[in-house]
Amino acid sequence: MTLDLSRWEKPDKGVLFVVTGSSGTGKTTLVRAALERVPHLSFSVSATTRPIRPGELHGVDYLFLSPERYDQLLVQGAFLEHASVYGNRYGTLREPVEQAIDAGVSIILDIDTQGAEQVRSSWPAAVSIFILPPSVEVLEQRLRGRATDPEEVIQRRVREAGLQLQECGRFDYLVVNDQLSSAADQLQAVLVAEQLRRPRRDSWVARFEGGGTTE
Ligand code: 5GP
Repeated sequence: MTLDLSRWEKPDKGVLFVVTGSSGTGKTTLVRAALERVPHLSFSVSATTRPIRPGELHGVDYLFLSPERYDQLLVQGAFLEHASVYGNRYGTLREPVEQAIDAGVSIILDIDTQGAEQVRSSWPAAVSIFILPPSVEVLEQRLRGRATDPEEVIQRRVREAGLQLQECGRFDYLVVNDQLSSAADQLQAVLVAEQLRRPRRDSWVARFEGGGTTE
């Protein structure tokens, strides 16, 4: 699919996109590909108490915080949503998200189902997308193929992945990641179409309202 978005003006207001899917669904790769291709789209860097992994960068992949600093922010009400995932805590900072949306930049949150539920109730205009594996068997194979995690971590991820998958019926869009380039195109199609919806294009309505006469 060729998406020529070169003449696409920034919308009046950005869209808050929630992308969810258990580990092993290729969600992070799909989100990165979308960020490279879709204009006016930015990633919300979450805060976490999880230890940094090799290759990750503070401020790029996550804000890696001490439990004390994380708690301070939590008490201050700085999080739009937050959750405990695989024994670590994760949260989305509210302020940068609000600023971007107001400036016409859409934001992608890569968060779990607990966080998605919170966003759904506190931000009803958010658009939620669930990335599905083609089957549970394929998902388990993919999780086992990752050499970085010990067996008990893999087992916990497989269990929690099954629980997350049960929530997919609550999402606006389902993208099945069977083949990466096709799934990437499907995700990008959603991100683009949602930004073109009429309620996000009031400035265009205003330009043509009244039949375009210049009396
Ligand atoms: P990982 O530690 O492998 O990067 O992420 C583990 C899980 O935590 C993923 O399912 C990811 O979507 C989720 N996650 C990452 N950041 C956040 C966040 O800010 N909020 C919530 N609720 N989940 C998050």
